[in-house]
Amino acid sequence: MTPPDAGGLPPRLIYPHETPDGLGIVGEPWPGIFWLRMPLPMRLNHINLWLLADGDGWTVVDTGLGTPEAKEIWEGIFATGLQGKPITRMIVTHFHPDHVGLAGWLAERWGVTMVATELEWLYGRMIPLEASPERVVNASRFYRENGLSSEVAETVAGRPGSMRAFVSTVPTFFKRISDGDDIEIGGRSWRVIVGQGHSPEHACLFCPEINVMIAGDQVLPRITPNVSVWPGEPEADPLSRFLSSLARIDGMVRSDPLVLPSHGLPFQGLNPRIGYLIAHHDERLAEVEIACEEPKTGADILPLLFRRELDVSQMGIALGEALAHTHLLVAQGRLHKARRDDGAIVFRKL
Ligand SMILES: [Zn+2]
Repeated sequence: MTPPDAGGLPPRLIYPHETPDGLGIVGEPWPGIFWLRMPLPMRLNHINLWLLADGDGWTVVDTGLGTPEAKEIWEGIFATGLQGKPITRMIVTHFHPDHVGLAGWLAERWGVTMVATELEWLYGRMIPLEASPERVVNASRFYRENGLSSEVAETVAGRPGSMRAFVSTVPTFFKRISDGDDIEIGGRSWRVIVGQGHSPEHACLFCPEINVMIAGDQVLPRITPNVSVWPGEPEADPLSRFLSSLARIDGMVRSDPLVLPSHGLPFQGLNPRIGYLIAHHDERLAEVEIACEEPKTGADILPLLFRRELDVSQMGIALGEALAHTHLLVAQGRLHKARRDDGAIVFRKL
């Protein structure tokens, strides 16, 4: 998932491939690694999946949204794109619907086990609970406390399963990968590098031998990955975890790999891109801190972070982003959090 707002371009990124026209298999950015573009019915209109030659079969990384259109594209690939070989493994980077959406469908279709980190599998398994009445009540309170009107809070909280609608099923069992694991794909070793903040235990895959990194949503070339506080953990500080994950990846991968991101084009320039993302958040954090000279709710900060009109479908993710900033600033002792007489949570500069 991605934020309603987009960051600018940092310097020095190299894009070896043009933007493809179509959907389905659109390229082979490295011999034996095929690039699949799948549609998304939103402003960000595509997701990239990866199909890796793996001995007598294929390993697929991420699955696409659970829509009829995506299934149809998959069917076309099954018919003509697999060189007569089966899909033998399915790795899911994280639980967001554009990544996990067709995991259950593909697992059943090919008899493969979903490979994922434990938290991503668990969060995926929780998606059907999203519309439970007690979750909606909690979410509604969370949005009210953070400054939305009762009416808007109710609507945002009750948006019926924005996630659920796009996920076939998440398999009832999985095979675990963890940070630091080395897994073999097509005779090469790929290191699992876990990032946090965008999702709880997001798996990136890095192959030093060919210097290629499958980055998922942890690092994207054009947009800043969404980092939000959600009603399920109202006091979360995901931005601290996101920024420290980026710093860790920056330190671990210094070989300027070809980065295969889930949105946008394959690129080189991982370290400058990470530097830009960190600087971008530092700037935003400073702006939020200054804005809180006067006590502000999360909702009060939205116009500062999103300089265009937000509709109700973007409100949850946007407010979550605002809170990700204020919560980091609270953790760093730069803002104070208090409760106003009307029950709203406000943040004030210290
Ligand atoms: Zn995501």
